[in-house]
Amino acid sequence: MLQDLIKIAYLVSAILFIFGMKRLQSPATARKGNQIAAYGMLVAIVATLVAKPIVTPVEMILGLLIGTAIGWIWSKKVEMTGMPELVAAFNGFGGIASAVVAFGEIAKLIQNTGTDDGEAFVMSTAVTIALSILIGGVTFTGSFVAYGKLSEKISGNPMSFPGMRLLTLVLAIVSIGATVWMVMGAGAFPDDFMTTAVSVEFTEPMIYGAIIVATAAFLLGILLVIPIGGADMPVVVSLLNSYSGMAAGATGFVLNNTALIVSGALVGASGLILTKIMCDAMNRSLLNVLIGGFGGDGQTAAAGSKSMEGKNITEVSSEDAAILLAYAEKVIFVPGYGMAVAQAQHAVRELGDELQKRGVTVKYAVHPVAGRMPGHMNVLLAEANVPYDQLYEMDDINGEFDTCDVAVVIGANDVVNPAARHDTASPIYGMPILNVDHARTTIVLKRSMRPGYAGIENELFFNSNNRMLFGDAKASISKVVSEVKGLD
Ligand code: NDP
Repeated sequence: MLQDLIKIAYLVSAILFIFGMKRLQSPATARKGNQIAAYGMLVAIVATLVAKPIVTPVEMILGLLIGTAIGWIWSKKVEMTGMPELVAAFNGFGGIASAVVAFGEIAKLIQNTGTDDGEAFVMSTAVTIALSILIGGVTFTGSFVAYGKLSEKISGNPMSFPGMRLLTLVLAIVSIGATVWMVMGAGAFPDDFMTTAVSVEFTEPMIYGAIIVATAAFLLGILLVIPIGGADMPVVVSLLNSYSGMAAGATGFVLNNTALIVSGALVGASGLILTKIMCDAMNRSLLNVLIGGFGGDGQTAAAGSKSMEGKNITEVSSEDAAILLAYAEKVIFVPGYGMAVAQAQHAVRELGDELQKRGVTVKYAVHPVAGRMPGHMNVLLAEANVPYDQLYEMDDINGEFDTCDVAVVIGANDVVNPAARHDTASPIYGMPILNVDHARTTIVLKRSMRPGYAGIENELFFNSNNRMLFGDAKASISKVVSEVKGLD
């Protein structure tokens, strides 16, 4: 009876995870989605602790309260721009949890060997123990290197040393070899070992193999992430997120826990899909990201395309920008990484409101990789209470720039660079961009002529219908707002 209830609870938690994830598809429902998934997690934790009474009810409640408090305080404290590093750290904890649980299972074997409590395993359990340690270990150290790069505790520049790739290869081979040794050493298996339960005895290769796998995995995690530039970390975190899901799924098989298998599979698959979406939006292969060397701390630049020397830019004052905007019929705001740096989202919404009061149609165009993490712009604009119906994804708004009077580019650069459409020598060639250059006039807000993440010049800035409004985006927009307010 209790076992049936536990199974139902796991099913409920899996359903809550799926519904929660479904709601993450839109900024309007994302908050609720997160809550639903969190309830799913609560159901799963309680069901597990009831199913395997490893702690007393008091300890269980205490543990839940402490864990909830840590998660709550950390999430409340973190700046929106610090979200990727928080996710990286949580990934790391997920990875090490899987590895520790796998070691726990080995410890149980050691304890029970030679006694009547010897556990009957199918061979695949020995395999999943090894996989939990391997994937969990890589996820742990890789995530914390990503955390260090994102929080600038270590340099964001790609790092390497002579023989690094060879060492990585050797460690990969060692970890696979030790996994096989560990699994084969777990006992004598019958021919149908994958499905037939046999008593797995503790043997020395098992524990030594596990230690070698763990050590190699920890080193591999570091070596795989250090050569990648800081600005590529969101892609890496998304991939590691997928790994932590796979490690959790493997641990689910070890523990025979349905909720862990389902949630691990969900995280594994969704992390992989997000990684693919990010790579596609940047027009780079995953291999290109993982080999590293592209981007760094965001200021240092990779190779550029053709120079714009000899071409002129036209500056605009905040007064003239205000006039252009106030007398327009349709204005599209295009936010980018610079809006996040300047924290200009509230000023931008204020400007949008002022323009709407004057009868201007205002829309916001969001590129999938604008900023430095997926959904970066959506989160900032939502924080500033920009109405969701004014937010448009790239494919939905690109056709509208032809009928737009003024496109205001707020600290965006690469995602509006027309070179992506035609300059085959450009590192961003082929990346889908927002077609702001189709608007009647563009106003670009940035502090200097410095390039963006890809390190290349932007030909948009030199177009005859483009105006540059130099300065910090928040300060510039605030000035434009007061100018618009001053117009009659
Ligand atoms: P970019 O990095 O191309 O450009 C940002 C611009 O903002 C810079 O040119 C900078 O110019 C300007 N800026 C910085 N601070 C301020 C400020 N305080 N006020 C005004 N302007 C400022 O950003 P995009 O959003 O256009 O493109 C994102 C890039 O990041 C893409 O290349 C994408 O591939 C990459 N990327 C995105 C990820 C994601 O998940 N979103 C993940 C990994 C990479 P200046 O210094 O002159 O002010």
